[in-house]
Amino acid sequence: MAALGPLSRTARLGCNLCRKHRLVFNRNLQRRGIASCIDPSYGLSEEQKEFQKVAFDFAANEMAPHMAEWDQKEIFPVETMRKAAQLGFGGIYVQPEVGGSGLSRLDTSIIFEALSTGCVSTTAYISIHNMCAWMIDTFGNNEQRERFCPDLCSMEKFASYCLTEPGSGSDAASLLTSARLKGDHYILNGSKAFISGGGDTDVYVVMCRTGGKGPKGISCLVVEKGTPGLSFGKKEKKVGWNSQPTRAVIFEDCAVPVTNRLGAEGQGFNIAMKGLNGGRINIASCSLGAAHASVLLARDHLLVRKQFGETLANNQFLQFKLAEMATKLVASRLLVREAATALQQSRADAVSLCSMAKLFVTDECFNICNQALQMHGGYGYLKDYAVQQFVRDIRVHQILEGTNEVMRMIISRNLLTES
Ligand SMILES: Cc1cc2nc3c(=O)[nH]c(=O)nc-3n(C[C@H](O)[C@H](O)[C@H](O)COP(=O)(O)OP(=O)(O)OC[C@H]3O[C@@H](n4cnc5c(N)ncnc54)[C@H](O)[C@@H]3O)c2cc1C
Repeated sequence: MAALGPLSRTARLGCNLCRKHRLVFNRNLQRRGIASCIDPSYGLSEEQKEFQKVAFDFAANEMAPHMAEWDQKEIFPVETMRKAAQLGFGGIYVQPEVGGSGLSRLDTSIIFEALSTGCVSTTAYISIHNMCAWMIDTFGNNEQRERFCPDLCSMEKFASYCLTEPGSGSDAASLLTSARLKGDHYILNGSKAFISGGGDTDVYVVMCRTGGKGPKGISCLVVEKGTPGLSFGKKEKKVGWNSQPTRAVIFEDCAVPVTNRLGAEGQGFNIAMKGLNGGRINIASCSLGAAHASVLLARDHLLVRKQFGETLANNQFLQFKLAEMATKLVASRLLVREAATALQQSRADAVSLCSMAKLFVTDECFNICNQALQMHGGYGYLKDYAVQQFVRDIRVHQILEGTNEVMRMIISRNLLTES
């Protein structure tokens, strides 16, 4: 066997530090009061603090120890997600009579923030799954709700949200996938791009064109895996979000019963956007969890790493940077929670606030994680250290569920057209 060279020694040192950091990291998550100024439990009710603790514990015990492996081996952790569902996280804001937890949007945000500290990618998929279950619960009739929701809430079955197409991303209302009525079925033709969970999930909530051009010609159908004419593209290779597959979803004369349509014909775009309002808060909450974890990782690194004869924590430039990160984290959390409350109360400002939260929080939290990586120096660039995975995993939050440019369009439209 070849002798260990300098590189190997560095790698081994990295691994040792990494194990130490992970232990510190997990301990911090369990003793969240350790830094009161960023404590995410302040201001919450006793009940919210309880399920937040459940989510933090689940993140620390069931997710964080595996997040690097799920990323590197691209494992979709089905059994872990089913365990999360046993805690009520499969249908958090779905009504209890069809198996959901019946919690509020704010409660949901608190849970996704906590879970993300253990694995952003897995939590983000769980959030998309929750969004789909809510769409069926809210816009489906009783027969559809009873048929689909219980299995989704238990995560016996998994769901995917299908809006984007190869030719329609930001301009989602220009989608082309057609659904032609033939007897008591719609015949679907077309394809969806970038579908999270695609190929591995069971229930596809699909926006398709049943009428003329524009948003009013779009309907929403639930397509079940195994339906003839439904197939999938190759699994995409991604920068992050590797614990969940992303594939194209393809329809070739795919016959879907009319009884699988959610709401009326032409209501599909509205249903899709209503789903995304909550989705945007959820994705922002996932960014919050990553930023919270990254601040703790950076703080711990500054406290142990010595350069120029003293710990980095003694350097005022780095102290100020850490203070800025903490301030932006807390500002982000306040905005997410305000948007969640607005959505829960169906306030007139809800759509804009959800967009503001998504824009501000996913941008700021990415910067926080990136700065945390910078504070780790070269170690931050090693896959042994969790901080790089937080950076990679949340980068896409600035792109999906409406890009942050689209968020600016929604906010400015509200400012310029409402008097
Ligand atoms: C990992 C991953 C998972 C995803 N999961 C799903 C999923 O589960 N379901 C689903 O339906 N979709 C999913 N998406 C798709 C995602 O929602 C789209 O990628 C996103 O909406 C952007 O569309 P696009 O990629 O076609 O970019 P484009 O629309 O082509 O935009 C390219 C760039 O131009 C900017 N731009 C476009 N128009 C304007 C304008 N008018 N003004 C200013 N800037 C503009 C955009 O903001 C962007 O920066 C996923 C994407 C990724 C990467």
